[in-house]
Parts: sequence; C-alpha cells; structure tokens
Amino acid sequence: MVEGRTLLREAYGMTTIKATCPSCGEVELTGDDIELMVCPSAPMSYYAFRCPTCSDRVRKPADDHIVSLLISGGVEAVTWEIPAEAFEIHAGPRLSYDDLLDFALWLGMSDKLAALADAPLSR
Ligand SMILES: [Zn+2]
Repeated sequence: MVEGRTLLREAYGMTTIKATCPSCGEVELTGDDIELMVCPSAPMSYYAFRCPTCSDRVRKPADDHIVSLLISGGVEAVTWEIPAEAFEIHAGPRLSYDDLLDFALWLGMSDKLAALADAPLSR
C-alpha cells in the first residue's frame, strides 16, 4: 500500500502495487496504472491513478521513499518542474473582483484593443 504502507508483490512476473482509494479502500494496481510525477521541489512530487473499482482519479503526495518504492515496482517516473512564475515575488495589491470586472468592461469598450488585434504583425 502506498503512503508508507506500500506493498509490492511479485506474482507471475508482474509487480502488484497496493494503494488506497479514499472511497473504496485498498486497491491493486500495476506499474502501468500509476502516473508518478517527480518534482525537484520534493513536496510537489505526487502519484496518481484511476481507481479500478469506482473510476475516480486519486492523487497523493509522494515523498522520496514512495518515489523509490514505485520506481522499484516498475512505475515510470516523469520529471516536472514548477514554472518559474510560481516563484516570482509580487508586490502591490491583489487583483480584486472589481478590478477584473473593470477590465472586462474596458475590453468591451476599447477600440484600441480591436485596432491592435487587426494590426499586422511587425518583425
Ligand atoms: Zn475507488
């Protein structure tokens, strides 16, 4: 079972991975059933699968131990990185709902934007 209780069982040349669905409890999966997304920022690594019983998509965090266990069970790891924009420091007030409404109204009234959209691209 994944989450510290991951159980890998080798049977008929295929490794069975037991994981937990929040609705159905313990389910048995193979390495092909699990998507393992490993991020260099460790807390952002996760694994996901579609529950074979209820078909819900289950996603759970994967620490280094779980990542190692899943890889040893035949799960292919895919590396992903958090976009640099997520680490940008933003100053100033947050965009409010009113700001968004004002912007939408401005878009509806602005001829300049329409003119820009029709303008030929310059290189
Ligand atoms: Zn389920």
